Amino acid sequence: MTIVILPPDVVGKIAAGEVIERPASTAKELIENSLDAGASDIRVEIREGGRRLLRVIDDGCGIPRAEVELAVARHATSKLRTADDLLHITTLGFRGEALNSIAAVSQMTILTRSAAEETATQLRLEGGLVAARESRGAPPGTVITVENLFFNVPARLAFLRQPQTEAGHIADMVARYAQAFPERRFSLVSDGRLLFQSTGNGSLPDVLAKVYGLEAAREMIPAGALAGHRAAADQSPQHPAASASPAAAPANLAPTVWGYIGLPSQHRANRNYIVFFLNRRWIQDRTLAYAVIEAYHTFLPVGRYPMATLMIELEPSLVDVNVHPTKAEVRFRDPRAVYRAVQKAVHQALIEQAPLPSVTLPSSAPTWGQPDGWDARRDALVNAGQAPNRHQLELDLPRPTPAPEEQPVLSGWPAIAASPPPSDLPMLRVIGQAAATYIIAEGPDGLYLIDQHAAHERILYEKLMAEMQRHAVPSQSLLEPVAFTPHGRHAALLAEYASVLNDLGFTLEPFGGHTYLVRSVPAVMHRADPQQATQEILEGLAEEENLVDDAREARLVRIICKRAAIKGGQTLSLIEMRELTRQLEACQSPRTCPHGRPTMVALSALQLEKFFARR
Ligand code: ADP
Ligand code: MG
Repeated sequence: MTIVILPPDVVGKIAAGEVIERPASTAKELIENSLDAGASDIRVEIREGGRRLLRVIDDGCGIPRAEVELAVARHATSKLRTADDLLHITTLGFRGEALNSIAAVSQMTILTRSAAEETATQLRLEGGLVAARESRGAPPGTVITVENLFFNVPARLAFLRQPQTEAGHIADMVARYAQAFPERRFSLVSDGRLLFQSTGNGSLPDVLAKVYGLEAAREMIPAGALAGHRAAADQSPQHPAASASPAAAPANLAPTVWGYIGLPSQHRANRNYIVFFLNRRWIQDRTLAYAVIEAYHTFLPVGRYPMATLMIELEPSLVDVNVHPTKAEVRFRDPRAVYRAVQKAVHQALIEQAPLPSVTLPSSAPTWGQPDGWDARRDALVNAGQAPNRHQLELDLPRPTPAPEEQPVLSGWPAIAASPPPSDLPMLRVIGQAAATYIIAEGPDGLYLIDQHAAHERILYEKLMAEMQRHAVPSQSLLEPVAFTPHGRHAALLAEYASVLNDLGFTLEPFGGHTYLVRSVPAVMHRADPQQATQEILEGLAEEENLVDDAREARLVRIICKRAAIKGGQTLSLIEMRELTRQLEACQSPRTCPHGRPTMVALSALQLEKFFARR
């Protein structure tokens, strides 16, 4: 075949395919146009999931009569003039592509009136060609009606899902913009039924209540700048804009993050409830979603995901919004700064505001401490006072008289308590151990059960993270180096992450081919099988390809701590339990292990009083 330039109608359909994937993408583009037009009331009406009809009604500025045809021309926009304007985009649209693309694959009617004009203009298009034009009476604003989407693109039509599925996607889209613009009123009517409505009163919590329900919204807490923290990223000298123009006010260069995040009790099955807006534009960003998940990692059960609605505000020149056909993905000039700002905002909010999990006692029959397995637990309790078998223990505690065969590997527990503000965990008095797994302790407000493995994991995690930041992770040399040969992707990962692994206390020496000699391992891992330990580390690395390095480091540290922490089923002495509890109190996030399970449950004095009918 010879090369030909495609006729305009084919070009139009190809371009439309990039931008308009399904009814929800049509809704997105039309809503964005209404927002750009300054509308304060945006109403979306759909029939049959938007396939039969999708209409967006706004009270925005309207399109002047003389420009209506132009609005549907390809690359026709009122929002951009020069290529330079692309460097600091402040509108949601800018390519002049949407109306043209939607018109090309549907029957579209535009009814619009600018405030300056007496009457409205109505333009009807069929597959992008003008079919009719007339003057009509209508209030100022714009109504765009899209009927029979993809009527002339059977391939696309075949891929549409059930109407209720498509309606669901549209509802998600409307809900997102309602969150980004709480001061504007959104409604969605599907087949005559009102599916969603926001008030436009400017309150994001009110919108969240509409989107997620009152119960869930009540369990969301303010984060970032909202919680009083300017979650500004580090003002690092390598910041491109900072070095380019030192005169610029630094406050404008750091991202500001604010919003609402779900309490750990509000976990979900997938990450769809983590929503980001960049300068009020809804964006999808897996790495940022990971920053949130990572911040929760110490709070949520494994395999569950948090809820978060987070606004990122960033000087427009520091982000390229022109990298994705539907503008749903953006490219940050300094992705790490944004990552850190998001993570910091979320983590700080959690540390300061997330409550301790507590035991819910049944109001009727007493079930706490039932006979089931009671004997074993009592035995363990009794045994708790006795000296444990020290060879089993990997808990490295300053002991009054260390057994002679023991080589102290770690030098105490520095730094944690000294550095960031310690937790608000009360001073606990250790009473004993239950089931050789839980430490029983008393605090000023009641009883605590501490999971010794989870608690030790948390202690080791914070210690190792602090040591890694100081490049001072103690490492343990092996008597005999051990050969290790990673395979496939692991080989490349090992080469790439050699220096991070080194920071973590591994010494890996190339030994020809893909083989390495493991000469040392992190000191906390000294009892683990070095080959298996290295293998597990690589598996952890391979699990998520597109994590930024910070996140990978944290994941690796978690893997190490899981291996190194004392296990459940190990009897501990009172001294050991006291030391463990002391160190847990000094942790920044003592309430959860690094994998998100709780380290403890509390049973308040009040609950006990109620339980025993003392009140
Ligand atoms: P873009 O939004 O990238 O400019 P569109 O194809 O979406 O491109 O829209 C083309 C132009 O039509 C816009 O620049 C705007 O001037 C005008 N327009 C579209 N929708 C509306 C609306 N709801 N209200 C006012 N003007 C609109
Ligand atoms: Mg647009």
